[in-house]
Order: sequence, then C-alpha cells, then structure tokens
Amino acid sequence: MSLNNFSIAALHPNANNFKITGIIIGKSNMSTFEKSGQQNGVVKFIIRDSNDHYINCTVWGTAQFIEEYNVQFKIGQVVNVLRSKISNVRHDNSFDPITSSSLQLTVNEGFGTVECFDGDVAQFVKLLNVPLKSTDLALNLADIASANPSDSGDFVDLLVVVAKLKPKRQLKNKGSVRDVIVIDQTLPGMFLTIWNEAWIDRSDSWDEMSTTLHLINISFKYSEFQKSNILETRTRTIIIVDPKSERSTALKDYVLNSTLSLTDFDTSEPDLASITTVMTLRQIADRIDSSTESVFHSLTYAMVTHMDIDGWSPFYSRRCIHCNCQIRVKETSCNKENCSIFFAESPLDEHYINYFNIPISLTDHTGTIEQCRLIGDTAERIIGHTLHDFLKLSDAERTAIKWKFLMERCSVKLWIKRKTALRWNTQIVIVDCQLANPAEVLEKIKVY
Ligand SMILES: [Zn+2]
Repeated sequence: MSLNNFSIAALHPNANNFKITGIIIGKSNMSTFEKSGQQNGVVKFIIRDSNDHYINCTVWGTAQFIEEYNVQFKIGQVVNVLRSKISNVRHDNSFDPITSSSLQLTVNEGFGTVECFDGDVAQFVKLLNVPLKSTDLALNLADIASANPSDSGDFVDLLVVVAKLKPKRQLKNKGSVRDVIVIDQTLPGMFLTIWNEAWIDRSDSWDEMSTTLHLINISFKYSEFQKSNILETRTRTIIIVDPKSERSTALKDYVLNSTLSLTDFDTSEPDLASITTVMTLRQIADRIDSSTESVFHSLTYAMVTHMDIDGWSPFYSRRCIHCNCQIRVKETSCNKENCSIFFAESPLDEHYINYFNIPISLTDHTGTIEQCRLIGDTAERIIGHTLHDFLKLSDAERTAIKWKFLMERCSVKLWIKRKTALRWNTQIVIVDCQLANPAEVLEKIKVY
C-alpha cells in the first residue's frame, strides 16, 4: 500500500498510512521500565519540517529495540516517520516539549517505523538554526540571577553565549551530565546543567565565547552549592544553536568584543588616572563580601608586606599564545585540541608566553590582604625589568629590587575582580604601585 506524504502543517487527526519527513531537533534520554516481566523502553524525538512546524514523535518498544533507535537516531539527522499513529496532544502533559502542532506521533515496535531519509537534506539542515520563536522574547540572565528562589522550577526562554564547557561528569547508573557556563550582556556567567544525553553529545561541537544558544523552556533553581540561581534542562526544554536573528548576532558581537576574560591574564587594564576612590583594605574586603558588582577599583595606601621574587616561590606563569589560557610552566604547548591544530598549521618556535604573576600581600592599619597579584606588563613596568631580563639577574639583584617596595608605604591602585561563575576566585590585581608621598597619605587616608 502506498504511503501518503504529509507535511506537519497539513497533518490531521484522521490521517493514516502516511509519511512525515523532517529533521530531528530534539531527543529525550531513553528510559526503560518493566512491563509484564519484560524490559521495555521509550525515546522521544522532536521532528521539524519547516520554519514554523514541528511535532513530537514518541517511540515505544522492547528495551533492545529502543536502545537501537537511541543509538541510530541523533539530533541533526533527517528522517522519515512511516505509518505512525497520530493523536491529539494531551493538555495535561507538562513533560513533552510544546510544539507548533496540536498533534503527536507515536511509533510502537511493529507498528510504524523511523528510517533515515536518503534524499537532499540541505533544506532540512538549515532549519537547525532557524529560531522556533522570536529571540526578542527571551529574558536576560540578570533577570534570572535576581529571580526569587521561590520561583524555582519556572520555565523561561533565554538567549546566551557558551562561555565555558566543563568536563562531562559520569553519574552512577544514570548516564552523564555536563555543566556549561553561559553569559549574556547582563551577567558575566551562570551555570547551565545539561541532563540531556543528546545535547551533551552535541555540546562537544560548541565553541567557547562564540556559540549562541536559544534556550526554550529552560528551568532555573537556586543552588546551595553555587549560592546563586542556576539553569537546567528539563524534558520540556528545546535548544536552538546559533539561531539566525539580529539579537543573536548582536550578542555574539558583544561577547567577541567584550573584555571578559577566562584567564587571569587580562590585557585590558583600566585607565589608571580614573582610579581615585580611596579605600582601606578593610573596606575592600567588606565590599568583596557584600556587593554584587563583578569588578571595582580602588586607590589604597598600604605597605607591601610580602613579595617573593628572589626565592623559590613561583613568580611567573605561562600562557598559550593561541587561547590565552594558563598552562603549566614545565609544559611547552597547550593541549587543547583547537590549539594543537592551530600550532600544526602555523609552525612557531614557541607556543607560549611567560609573564610575571607575583603574589603580594598588602597591609594597612585596618588589616592585611594576602592574595594580591602583580601581573604581566604592569609588573614589568613597576619592577623596571622585563621578565626575560629579570630571569637573568642574580638573587642579590632580585633581592635589591624587592626591598625597593617591601615594608614601604605605597600608593597602590587595585583592580578587584569578584568571584563569578566564570571566575573561581576573587582576583585582586595590582595595576599600579608607587612609593607614597607621606603628605598625600596623611591627607587622604581613611580611619576605617
Ligand atoms: Zn591554548
């Protein structure tokens, strides 16, 4: 019996013996259960055949049959759904993705089938990047960050850029999970936990600081561990990668041109002349604890009480010249895949740059801050030597340089970068340090 070809838009509840062709844009985790002494399973797909039309397709069968489907069919594949059952979407169903179609397809083992489409897939593949709904309707991450934890579990739409892909984690008996840090113009990082195996696989092809995600019906909840709201996928979630829209392009441009940095080596230093707010170390510590701003600056009058540049403590670091990420000082090349490819294609002598990264303690009459850093070009300017030259100096010469600052009252300009999802620790970077003029100190120093 020949099959009737139907588009999703033209489907009706009485259609039978029909064929739908579309691309898989979403897929559930496979689940199994016992029924009449037999292991059965189910896996669900979202099938799309045009800009505006997509439908859910649920496949039931023995665990072995479902396992085969699960392995064979992935997001991005174009398939034919043949002789499936058709029914109305149940209104009380709060688990399946919300589709354009009010109908749903069901394939039962032995009744209906899904097979690979062997025609021209180009027109279908394009649909992977066509928004399912307007990206202008998406909320900002800042809205979610400030949302009341009692609203946890609500579904929202967001448009974000992948900032950092964390390694996949294997769960006991429950597949895997992956945390991704996402950003937008309003927030420098929020955790997104992906529980969906199909999307965990797809995420390997995402590029940090470039891939844009339209997250539709993503859920958020308060994490005690992160002490903030985080995002997580649910069975209802749909993801469109790099959606073609003006807002998506604008967001990508913003991230490419922003000063957000994934490393401690940040070349975009603030304008020194603009740092005039005088703060004591105690005030700085309080502001780190209490504020929500990701970055602030201060002018501080303090004594340098620790500056190890003449002993065995490490005072420089190494970064990859391609990705800017820190690598171990004893390694000569970054082991990221993209960097290996880059270096293979453009032969260079050195794949890294060494830079000063000096731990410094500051002390004033209100306390001590231990984990300040003097980094890169700033360190070279203040010390008066390039790292290259400094490494050739004798220990005695290095000690002499150290004593120019140690136990002296200095006027120090600090760039304080608070801990965020992208930054594991608060960083206090010294952007300027000069011996202080005692008269100036008397005039400006604060009691608290
Ligand atoms: Zn690298």
